[in-house]
Amino acid sequence: MSPFPVILSAPSGGGKTTIARMLLARRPDLGYSVSCTTRAPRPGEVAGRDYYFISRAEFIAKREQGAFAESAEVHGNLYGTLRDEVEQVMREGRHVVMDIDVQGAVQFIRAFPLSVTIFILPPSAEVLLERLRGRMTESPAQLAARLQSALQELQQVDEYEYVVMNDELERAVSSVESIIDAEVVSRERLKNLRQQVGLLIERLEQEIENSSP
Ligand code: ADP
Ligand code: 5GP
Repeated sequence: MSPFPVILSAPSGGGKTTIARMLLARRPDLGYSVSCTTRAPRPGEVAGRDYYFISRAEFIAKREQGAFAESAEVHGNLYGTLRDEVEQVMREGRHVVMDIDVQGAVQFIRAFPLSVTIFILPPSAEVLLERLRGRMTESPAQLAARLQSALQELQQVDEYEYVVMNDELERAVSSVESIIDAEVVSRERLKNLRQQVGLLIERLEQEIENSSP
């Protein structure tokens, strides 16, 4: 089985960061792709763990060098997934969890078509607003920008293969785990399936021939 990227997208406040953190804490078969961003760190965020916090000039230079598998401007800041970061996690034999916006997801799938795409949906607008305000990480102007992007993001739900409702956190995390587990055994991802089945058939045919009177 080859490792694959798992893309989590949601409108801001939908819970993708929380879900990604819980998945990574409980599953050693998953790794995280740390993105670059030009936004300032929030209290408690750690450089190199949550993001690589870089300047706009550094970001543009990296983009010109082709370092990003995808990049997008989200809420006025630049964000990008480093190609090397994704490939490194997969080389280690782990699936790569990625928390990226809808525009980035569409670009990323072109570079990594075997990605699994999951949209995290809040149970209601009231709950989304409550969670976003409760997080208290944005100014009123930033919050307004995030709500505006949330409208656009919600309209892109059809681009995703799976949709998980984040009502109860534990249930949402388990649903994402079930999706990953099912994808691991999906026929299209199984390497050498033809050979394995061919060997089984060959051995059974021998047995039938030997045991026939
Ligand atoms: P996103 O990364 O999609 O912007 P976060 O993961 O930061 O969203 O979640 C937004 C806020 O909602 C956080 O304060 C988080 O703790 C809270 N939250 C996320 N999921 C749930 C849930 N199922 N129940 C209650 N609170 C939640
Ligand atoms: P935040 O600033 O709240 O961490 O993230 C804001 C938005 O940027 C979220 O929708 C998040 O999914 C998205 N984002 C984070 N990293 C990346 C990335 O590498 N690429 C893209 N396209 N979006 C990202």
